[in-house]
Amino acid sequence: MTAQAEKPSRVILLMKATTYRARPFLEAAGLLGIEVVKGLDMPPELAEYWQVPLGLQFDQPEQAVQAMVNFACKTPVQAILAVDDSATVLAALASEALGLAHNSSEAALAARNKHHMRQLLTAAGVPSPKFRLYDMSDDPARIAAEVEYPCVVKPLLLSGSRGVIRADNPAEFDVAFRRLGRLLASMQRAPGSTQILIEDFIPGFEVALEGMLDQGELKVLALFDKPDPLDGPFFEETIYVTPSRLPDPIQAEIAACTASAAAALGLRHGPIHAELRVNEAGPWIVEVAGRSIGGLCSQTLRFGPKASLEELILRQAVGLEIDSWRGEEGARGVMMIPIPASGLLKRVTGVEAARQVPGIESVEITAQLYQPLVPLPEGESYLGFIFARGTQPDEVEAALRQAHAQLHFEVETLLPVLQ
Ligand code: ADP
Ligand code: CA
Repeated sequence: MTAQAEKPSRVILLMKATTYRARPFLEAAGLLGIEVVKGLDMPPELAEYWQVPLGLQFDQPEQAVQAMVNFACKTPVQAILAVDDSATVLAALASEALGLAHNSSEAALAARNKHHMRQLLTAAGVPSPKFRLYDMSDDPARIAAEVEYPCVVKPLLLSGSRGVIRADNPAEFDVAFRRLGRLLASMQRAPGSTQILIEDFIPGFEVALEGMLDQGELKVLALFDKPDPLDGPFFEETIYVTPSRLPDPIQAEIAACTASAAAALGLRHGPIHAELRVNEAGPWIVEVAGRSIGGLCSQTLRFGPKASLEELILRQAVGLEIDSWRGEEGARGVMMIPIPASGLLKRVTGVEAARQVPGIESVEITAQLYQPLVPLPEGESYLGFIFARGTQPDEVEAALRQAHAQLHFEVETLLPVLQ
């Protein structure tokens, strides 16, 4: 502790100004006495105007890395971390340039690009769906005749299930292909943005594994069940409950499968968030990301007994001891509140009633009133989050459902814009 006080640690935390993920990292850093330099995604003119010491453009990695190297030469940093998917590759590139511990940039890239990930998983023999890569300029009728059904159509670089659509036959495929095409065309062009992946649909029960890699070794921090069926055509996340109710041997298989997947991608350091489907053939990797759980969901986790997930991540990053990787006793859950319809959010009622449901810890509505709501597959947000705790997972799940039933969202339909 005294060594720490004499030589305070400093990290660069890469984030977009709109992220929810920064706050718990900043709180944990405050507790640990770690100084955080925010590496914010913004053009240099804005950074100057707002007097942001480290404004970076995430879509211009070479300049962004150079800016971090220049910064770190004057003001040394122990680690460079990304709070979410938007900058995992940039964090790896900058860490490489400065010789700091981090995943390699190849591994970070493999965990960000769904095609690259499938290639590496398949090559390593890790169970993962069969896939084919196409371009939006390809003829959908030809692709429709080539793929097997049911299939899943997805973009390579988005997250949060955006643009992920199931198709059961060529007619559905045609609709899905065009819908994804419109979404990609509406977004800023990035390399690979016109490519799409088509995978076999893997039936089964879905779980999410939150873990940390420590010199390549996987520590499982939590396994979440996703009790609502995720069978498509769109794949909106809703309830996460931990600990998992799956039998122990299956949980062990899930952990082993995730560890092989991380190794196949070359991930060795820091947080990972993996999603798997489990069926009679065992676990299958949907994806492994080199980051921690998204949104406000990390609030569900505490370790031995009070440390947050972000505290663990920061401790590892600056080389502080981690007292316990074990999660606290009892069950915890979160519901990402789904968007019921597209339109303008006019009013939210029932929040107090939802908070009164036994087992509910908090209800946070994050959607803004009078802002358009966009459901999946185009949208990229939730209405908010409900948190619950209890002694048993069943109880937590029931509390989340009961609290959600108290909420009412008044959504005014917007007239479609003619295109
Ligand atoms: P994202 O990175 O946008 O979250 P994913 O590849 O994780 O995209 O897909 C989002 C969700 O879609 C998954 O959590 C899963 O429910 C579903 N999904 C994706 N690929 C498949 C597949 N091949 N088979 C079955 N379900 C899938
Ligand atoms: Ca996912």
